[in-house]
Amino acid sequence: MVHHSSAAGSGQAALYLQDTYLTDVVTNVVAAGRDDAGGVWVAVRHSIFHPQGGGQPADRGWLGACEVVPVRHAASGLVVLHARQGGGLDGLAEGDAVHARVDTGLRRLHAALHTAGHLVEAAGRGEGWTLAANNHFPDQARIEFTPPEAGAHLAEVEERDKATDRLRSFVDLAIADDLPVTADHDGEGRRVVRLGDLHAAPCGGTHVRSLAELEHVTIPAVKLKKGRVRVSYSASHRQPR
Ligand SMILES: [Zn+2]
Repeated sequence: MVHHSSAAGSGQAALYLQDTYLTDVVTNVVAAGRDDAGGVWVAVRHSIFHPQGGGQPADRGWLGACEVVPVRHAASGLVVLHARQGGGLDGLAEGDAVHARVDTGLRRLHAALHTAGHLVEAAGRGEGWTLAANNHFPDQARIEFTPPEAGAHLAEVEERDKATDRLRSFVDLAIADDLPVTADHDGEGRRVVRLGDLHAAPCGGTHVRSLAELEHVTIPAVKLKKGRVRVSYSASHRQPR
């Protein structure tokens, strides 16, 4: 089992889990190799790169001038970097100093969408629904729930509209309260993300610091499909002041 907080013994620290807003570091290579297809990968000591997973897309990032794609290496648990194209990482070896950075605007958008997803999940749980699936990708973000009795009470559009209004109110109130977003580890070593006392969920994604960082959180009318409630949503990150 791979823990999200670090890859034990690897010498790699998962800084993206500690600070969403750290997007530029000078660090060094702790491992390098080739995958089965012959492509070079490297792992860096201070990993600011979120790999795709948990419904969140990968960061866009660079090592020096080389655009990289972060991927979680299943065997080692390391977040490893592949060149998006060409041989831009060829020649890097363990110990080499490298300048690592990620696309700040995209990082903030992903964090906003992911955090808003937790908030929508909390709102849906408040309706008595059970989480079934989540997707925090830009332009396709949605949370799906299993409602009691396959959502029989939501067959009427009027009931769905009422439920949509309740979800929106729940979300708006939590944002107005500016609940803090924190992370800690439970007894089994899992990272748990919390929205104040409102919600807690195991998660290895990136999040905003508090809910007032969210803006333009919108929820179109909920849909009922094959016994699941689908709640689409969008969100953006407040511009830095
Ligand atoms: Zn999360």
